[in-house]
Amino acid sequence: MTDFEGLKALVTGGASGIGRATAELLAARGAQVAVLDLDPSSVEKPLRGYRADVTDDTSVREAVAAAVTDLGGLDIVVNNAGIGAQGTVEDNADEEWQRVFDVNVLGMVRTARAALPHLRNSAHAVIVNTCSIAATAGLPQRALYSATKGAVYSLTLAMAADHVREGVRVNCVNPGTVDTPWVGRLLDSAADSAAERTALESRQPTGRLVSAAEVAGAIAYLASPLSGATTGTSLAVDGGMQGLRLRPA
Ligand code: NAD
Repeated sequence: MTDFEGLKALVTGGASGIGRATAELLAARGAQVAVLDLDPSSVEKPLRGYRADVTDDTSVREAVAAAVTDLGGLDIVVNNAGIGAQGTVEDNADEEWQRVFDVNVLGMVRTARAALPHLRNSAHAVIVNTCSIAATAGLPQRALYSATKGAVYSLTLAMAADHVREGVRVNCVNPGTVDTPWVGRLLDSAADSAAERTALESRQPTGRLVSAAEVAGAIAYLASPLSGATTGTSLAVDGGMQGLRLRPA
């Protein structure tokens, strides 16, 4: 793994889960890191926390501007803030579709829009979007969530095309089921959360959930000069969920 000495990074949704693990990894490798989150109160040095709601364009613009001023520039954007949604198309009203798209898709658009003028000044400009295997997997009971991640996947490719000549790379990671507070909340809401966890683990080809640190490692690779020729692509971090066709044990 290359080091990030001298590079300045911004991670949305960086106060928890995948975002937090990513912010900590980039900082441990020498980057200066700004975390933008609805609740940055748990963010500790050397990370810098900024309150931002990715559904509010003014909030994003102000937080990005403050972070860029404090860091003295911007090289890496990890567009990671996102929320879940369960159900079929019959289960969620229009307002819920709009709310989840506002966070998961428009949140990334707003952050990229605020960051791109700064990224164009960087000799190492890169955006990594946190997508999901839900973008292409056809998961049951995840119509709305999957549609948002499908949009993130297409957005990643389109942005990569739009900004490649400006020296800005854009890629995404597609995590499977990752052991974060988000999944913890889902398990807690089950009647028997221990049994639910065991069932979830047994559906993974590896027999275990993906760790946030493993997704952070993939994001760090895509954010690093090691992947300097890689743009407009996705990297699955899913314990083989999508690619493998295993016979039942
Ligand atoms: P998490 O709930 O642990 O963390 C999400 C963070 O985003 C929180 O700190 C939260 O405060 C922040 N956030 C939420 N809404 C926000 C808003 N409007 N503005 C600013 N910040 C906001 O979740 P996680 O599991 O780490 O998920 C992070 C990303 O990874 C999401 O985009 C999610 O879709 C994606 N993902 C997660 C999994 C999984 O299994 N956990 C799988 C695939 C993809």
